[in-house]
Amino acid sequence: MTVALVLPRKGDPAGPALWELAAPLLTPGEGVELWLPSEGEGEEGWELPYHEAYLRRLEALWEGRRPELILFPETVPGHELGARFSARLGCPCFTEVRSLSREGNRLLLRRRVCGFHLEAESLLETFPAVLTVLGKPGNQGPSLPELLPVRGEALPLTLPRWLLEYRTGGKGPANPLETAPLVFAGGRGLGSLALCNRLRGAAKTLGAALGLSRPGALNGWGQMEEIIGQSGVRTGAETCLAVGVSGAAAFMAGIEGVRTLIAVNPDSNAPIFQYADLGILATAEEFLSALEKELAEKEPGDRHDG
Ligand SMILES: Cc1cc2nc3c(=O)[nH]c(=O)nc-3n(C[C@H](O)[C@H](O)[C@H](O)COP(=O)(O)OP(=O)(O)OC[C@H]3O[C@@H](n4cnc5c(N)ncnc54)[C@H](O)[C@@H]3O)c2cc1C
Repeated sequence: MTVALVLPRKGDPAGPALWELAAPLLTPGEGVELWLPSEGEGEEGWELPYHEAYLRRLEALWEGRRPELILFPETVPGHELGARFSARLGCPCFTEVRSLSREGNRLLLRRRVCGFHLEAESLLETFPAVLTVLGKPGNQGPSLPELLPVRGEALPLTLPRWLLEYRTGGKGPANPLETAPLVFAGGRGLGSLALCNRLRGAAKTLGAALGLSRPGALNGWGQMEEIIGQSGVRTGAETCLAVGVSGAAAFMAGIEGVRTLIAVNPDSNAPIFQYADLGILATAEEFLSALEKELAEKEPGDRHDG
């Protein structure tokens, strides 16, 4: 099988996950195409007009090579580009793919569906096909060229001719969630404003910024600016502690830059445990009581050392 991996951003943390999925499918000796942005491009974030430029270049690359499978990371630009690229090729697109295996001439895909609450199995038998692949947030694995003889392909960005001018609006005051090294995130599993306030109190004591999943904010436990995720803030914290969060893709999009993820959830099947570096099987109440006890026993001066 011929496969192309598309990494819209250099050093994309989803790169190793893409490679992990693709490697068993490759025909020996064929290698894999790696389509990357050109040097110095695609690193400044993701400007809307560039989607068009990328898509045009991807189309040209596809024409030349015609890989059967094109994998994008399940990041915001990856998802956007993957869906739009498949529409252009008129081929199937499957999102939130977690694993892949061969079934004769077909591929068996396992994917997250229904807001991450169910896993679906789909058999893919028409190619080419586009898949967006779930990676582990903060995956610090080896970079792709260290893993395999890939054939890199730079994607120079030239804006479409119809786009005469574009501007990016000035930024408002920075949201502390964007820059705080330590972030506490509360989800629906907190169950009440009272428990959310206890999490907020612990965050304050430890100098962490508090964020919420969307249901947390919609429950009135905090402000809309505190939503972490696809429709909220993206945090690049060193450490994120997520309490009562299931790990839905829309939330995970907001923490994909986090280095260490700690998850607290009483359900051992909660999807967030697949991404967490440390998982704590406990209710929010149990966890917060233990944390508060620990903080009360510590001298104030000891609190920032872990
Ligand atoms: C277009 C779109 C954009 C979206 N954007 C965002 C976004 O930016 N951010 C966002 O967060 N969501 C967003 N969502 C919603 C998203 O899909 C999920 O529904 C949401 O993230 C789930 O939030 P949650 O994990 O808090 O709740 P749930 O998925 O309901 O999970 C609650 C978790 O709490 C656990 N739990 C139960 N009891 C306890 C207890 N006693 N103690 C501790 N844990 C417990 C459960 O096991 C479960 O895992 C978006 C959805 C759409 C359609």
